Amino acid sequence: LLEINIDSLKEKLKSFSNFGKTEGGGVSRLLFTKPEIEARNEFCRRMEKIGAEICTDDMGNIYATIKGNEDLPAIVTGSHCDSVVKGGNYDGILGVLAAMEVLETIVKEDIYHRHPITAIIWTNEEGVRFDPVMMGSGVVAGKFSREDILKAKDTEGITFEEALKNSGFLGQKENRLKPENTLANLELHIEQGPVLEMEEKSIGVLEGVIGMLNYAITLKGRAGHAGTVPMKYRKDAFLAASNALIYLHDKLKDFPEDLVFTNGQVFCHPNVNTVIADEFTFIVDARHKDPEVIKRLEEVIKNMPKEFNGCKLSYKKQWTRDTVKFNEKIVEIVENSTKALGYDYKKMYSGPGHDSQYIADIIPTSMIFVPSKDGDSHCEWEYTSLSDCHRGVNVLLHSILKLDNEDRL
Ligand SMILES: [Zn+2]
Repeated sequence: LLEINIDSLKEKLKSFSNFGKTEGGGVSRLLFTKPEIEARNEFCRRMEKIGAEICTDDMGNIYATIKGNEDLPAIVTGSHCDSVVKGGNYDGILGVLAAMEVLETIVKEDIYHRHPITAIIWTNEEGVRFDPVMMGSGVVAGKFSREDILKAKDTEGITFEEALKNSGFLGQKENRLKPENTLANLELHIEQGPVLEMEEKSIGVLEGVIGMLNYAITLKGRAGHAGTVPMKYRKDAFLAASNALIYLHDKLKDFPEDLVFTNGQVFCHPNVNTVIADEFTFIVDARHKDPEVIKRLEEVIKNMPKEFNGCKLSYKKQWTRDTVKFNEKIVEIVENSTKALGYDYKKMYSGPGHDSQYIADIIPTSMIFVPSKDGDSHCEWEYTSLSDCHRGVNVLLHSILKLDNEDRL
């Protein structure tokens, strides 16, 4: 079977790692900063070179399209080229380089295709310089209003609107990706978790993005001097929160094993070693693919005892995300392409959010994962082997060529 050129992919990974290179071997490539703009320009330069037509929309998303042999809706693929501060060389950018590689291969090998094929760079996936995350795809999918987004400010007080204008990538609203002229969207991304590596699989065939909830749980007690208030008169919010957390963990025993439940953030007031805490908040982040499981967990939180250790309990829903199911036909095509190439794979759901999760709302979509060494991501040592990257791009290429046979999904 046809494979993409591994040396060409290697060269791309190396070249693009220079845009925002850090001393630790990673990249800091925040949206619309010099290195991010350089990466965008290099993408455009290389895509123009193969005869792709480039346009940008009113969010600065970039589309590079090679024409098809028939007048049909496009097949699109891409990801983001912005990174977190001291991020890695694979998150997002691999999906962009893969898209470029697929287009280049099709042009160089003169592969017959009916549909136009588009490589995309999505604006501000990471949401580091401007909040929220997945801004470009979110506006295209109608999740956010552009007017609100334009007002977002970075830490220096520069608005997204100014940064977008100054970037040179502000285009027309009409250029936004539209359901009526898009057949399918397929994104290659690193897993950012340990499962593929642990199960010794090269490819993740993604069935969707798992739903999640985020609640803040607060216990209110009474402050007091660590040396003077007898234990029996205390209303210690920290102790109460600990018991509330144990209560929740006991309830988890009734839930499926693949529910993930995390308390990674706490706020303790006054957070002084000689003062009894009068207020303690911990955040619950829980994720599962079945919306019923998330709903059941929400009920558990809402029905927690109103008091622990004399402290009043309250909860606040910060946000939830519904499970996103990817298009079954595309999932099947990706699975078949992976099988045909002879790669080991696992069907799975994504824990992290991705641009494709928003796009899935308006256009038939799926994703391909490749392994992350030790599950590490958003760090300078983030790593995926060249052979795994190569396999991922081959699956992307063959899936796109199979999608090209379809008229409707
Ligand atoms: Zn990413």
